[in-house]
This record gives sequence, C-alpha cells and structure tokens, in this order.
Amino acid sequence: MILSNLQTIRLQIQETASKCGRDPAAIRLVAVSKKCPVSSLQEAMQADQFLFGENYIQEAVQKKAATGGVALFHFIGHLQSNKVRPAAQTFQMIETIDRFKLAAALDKELKLQGKIMDILVQVNIGREPQKSGVLPEDTEKLFTQIIPLSNLRIQGLMTIPPFVEDPEQTRPYFRDLRLLAEKLQEKKYFFDNTHVELSMGMSSDYVIAIEEGATLVRVGTAIFGNRPEK
Ligand SMILES: *Cc1c(COP(=O)(O)O)cnc(C)c1O
Repeated sequence: MILSNLQTIRLQIQETASKCGRDPAAIRLVAVSKKCPVSSLQEAMQADQFLFGENYIQEAVQKKAATGGVALFHFIGHLQSNKVRPAAQTFQMIETIDRFKLAAALDKELKLQGKIMDILVQVNIGREPQKSGVLPEDTEKLFTQIIPLSNLRIQGLMTIPPFVEDPEQTRPYFRDLRLLAEKLQEKKYFFDNTHVELSMGMSSDYVIAIEEGATLVRVGTAIFGNRPEK
C-alpha cells in the first residue's frame, strides 16, 4: 500500500512539474509520518523514501534511532524553546521557526553542539489567530533578527494555509507565500538566494502547491493512510 501510494504521488509530482515547466527534481517529497509506527517508515524506506516529517520531538527521537541513521527528518510541528536540545540533535531541518526567542534558543544550543542547521520560517499566511507562524507583515523583521544568528541558515518559508473544502481555494495562499519569498529573495535575505525552499502543500492540495512553486511538499495520509485518532 505504502509503495503504491508513493509511486502514485511521485508520478503526480512529475506530471505536475512538467505541465508547468518545472524540474521535477526540484520538488522533494516529505513523508509525514507522525503517529505512524516505525514499520511504516521502514516500508517507505524500502520504496526509496528517506525524508520524513515529524510533529513530535520524542516520537522523532525514537524513530530516528529505530531507522538506523539512514533517514532524514524535518520537524514540522510546534517547537517549544525548552525542546531545542533534542530538536538540534535529531532534525536535519526545522520548518517551523516563527519567533525570535525560539530561533535564539536554537542557535545557542547549536553552538553548544557544534552544529549548523537549515531552517524555514513558518508564515501564518492566512492570518488565523489560532495558528502558529509569523504574520506576513512581520516576516521581514523576524528575518533581520534571525540572520545574525550564525548557526542558523534560513533556507526558505513554510506555511499551513487555512482549512478549505475545495483544495483549489488554497491557491491564493500558496501564491502569497511565493510572492513573499520573492520579495525577501530580492533583498538577499535567504542563506542561498539562488535556491529558496517553499514548503507548502499536503495530501489534498500538493498538486496546487507545486503549480504555485512548492519545493517541499508534506504528504501524510496519502502515503500512510489515515492516522489513528488520539
Ligand atoms: C500532519 C501534517 C501534514 C500532513 O498532512 P496530510 O493531510 O496527512 O497529508 C503536513 N504538514 C503539517 C504541518 C502537518 O502537521
């Protein structure tokens, strides 16, 4: 099941990319494995999927140990400042940096560990009061605060758009994130301004996200099936 799901999604990514004249290799699939057993990750790895997204630190620590260091993990959940130590030890990228205090705590911990980490800034592109992410209008200021932190490299932006019934309705949010990234790119605010990551799109709308420029799509249920309720 996981194998055929992955094949379907990879095909979909390729077709969408070629339809809009993008290089399919510039779009990476993050398999969101939160609440999935280690056996599901192993099954995905047998199908050549080595990049995973996790929302909970403790779960990710265990899965990283259980998968023997071959898999790479992106953190896509809400990160608390008191969890930066295990986060810095476990993840290849943290996609959800949305405030200076958190960035500073992470940078300090990375210095202790002698590491440099790629991060994305999470933007609350739909301006939803209950959602994490920096507001679009505050993003530039947050960048100017984070850029001097020498152990963090801002590689791009990430967003979770408002929930909508029709996936097509997410398009304006994805577009807004891309336009915001382009504005920051013009000011050379990213670590590598020739390659800016846009993490957007989930199971229901990753095709639309790719059409709007996504370089990382975070797909869970379309790969692993429905997650068990808590
Ligand atoms: C759970 C989750 C996903 C994956 O969602 P699906 O609808 O299962 O594909 C993607 N991004 C974030 C931030 C998530 O928490």
